[in-house]
Amino acid sequence: MIQVIKCQSKPCINGYPAAKLECPTCHKLGIAGSFFCGQECFKAGCNRPRKRWHYVIHDIATMPLPSFNEGEEGTFNPWPNFSYSGTLRPVYPLSEKRAVPKHINKPDYAKDGVPKSEMMELGSAPRILNKKQQERMRTVCKACMGREILDLAATYVKVGVTTDEIDEVVHNAIIERNAYPSPMNYREFPKSICTSINEVICHGIPDKRKLRDGDILNIDVSVYYDGYHADLNATYPVGTIDEESKMLVRTTRQCLDEAIKVCKPGALFRDIGKAIEPVAHANGCSVVHTFVGHGVNDLFHANPNIPHYAKNRAVGTMRPGMAFTIEPMINLGAYGSEKLWPDGWTTATVDGRRSAQFEETLLITETGVEVLTTGAPLEL
Ligand SMILES: [Zn+2]
Ligand SMILES: [Zn+2]
Repeated sequence: MIQVIKCQSKPCINGYPAAKLECPTCHKLGIAGSFFCGQECFKAGCNRPRKRWHYVIHDIATMPLPSFNEGEEGTFNPWPNFSYSGTLRPVYPLSEKRAVPKHINKPDYAKDGVPKSEMMELGSAPRILNKKQQERMRTVCKACMGREILDLAATYVKVGVTTDEIDEVVHNAIIERNAYPSPMNYREFPKSICTSINEVICHGIPDKRKLRDGDILNIDVSVYYDGYHADLNATYPVGTIDEESKMLVRTTRQCLDEAIKVCKPGALFRDIGKAIEPVAHANGCSVVHTFVGHGVNDLFHANPNIPHYAKNRAVGTMRPGMAFTIEPMINLGAYGSEKLWPDGWTTATVDGRRSAQFEETLLITETGVEVLTTGAPLEL
């Protein structure tokens, strides 16, 4: 039984970042200002009419660590009563917020979490970058920035390593290059990368769970440097993975490669999904509809929207100077009705079966397409 009483405690003594939590009474998610403290209690901001309530959920605060806790001593699952679709669980507390030195140029959301310039350009046409701007995109995407950092992160994908440790490595590598980790505080995302394990489709939060033999892990790295963003990700095996997972990862990479072949001046954005879906279906997989590729430039997420499924209604034609991502998320099982964890970010498949993803940042040139974040071919 969940016993709910009014919370008497002060703001989190550990300074943990804000987390969106579900109110046990009204089942609404808590909003800004809600937080939890791993040592003492849970708090959830509950938006009831006229009054906001804060609660301590006592049986959660006092219950022993759940048996499925997967981390070290002192770690815990913050939502033991949530109906997870698969076997993965969050392992909290999250590490403390990482610092970004003052001298580093930051995007407009770095302080308050609100991407104001993005919101102002919601309905506008995709940007056409001039030669100077294209050069800046190349710089942030290529060798010493986005691609090199993702490749560095990949070397840490090993049994027993936590995603929080990979987040730390990436964060440090980014600030060493005088760049900013784009996800940090974007709409209040608490960490510097997204790490999505097994049934998590995207937007997983690095935490204290140790990687296990047989996991698949997607690492999504985004970097902001000299006013421009790079955005790329890849899915990696942890130790030895089963044949089905190998097939999923290979299929997903193939989906992205086929989609890239479509890209050139005059091609239609809606045809990208048409190239992806048959590859997924031929391998018995499904394509996630909920999340799309996007324009990327001085804005982290901009027009156009790029669905990865066939028969979509995306508008627009590719023109030289446009930069955007393609980032198909492919599932072993069903798509749709994704399960959003109470952290407000982590999105898992509806049936708990695995999902993989690959992402590159592309630039349309006069003659075709340049994969700005290009790396070594997949070996699996
Ligand atoms: Zn990304
Ligand atoms: Zn992206």
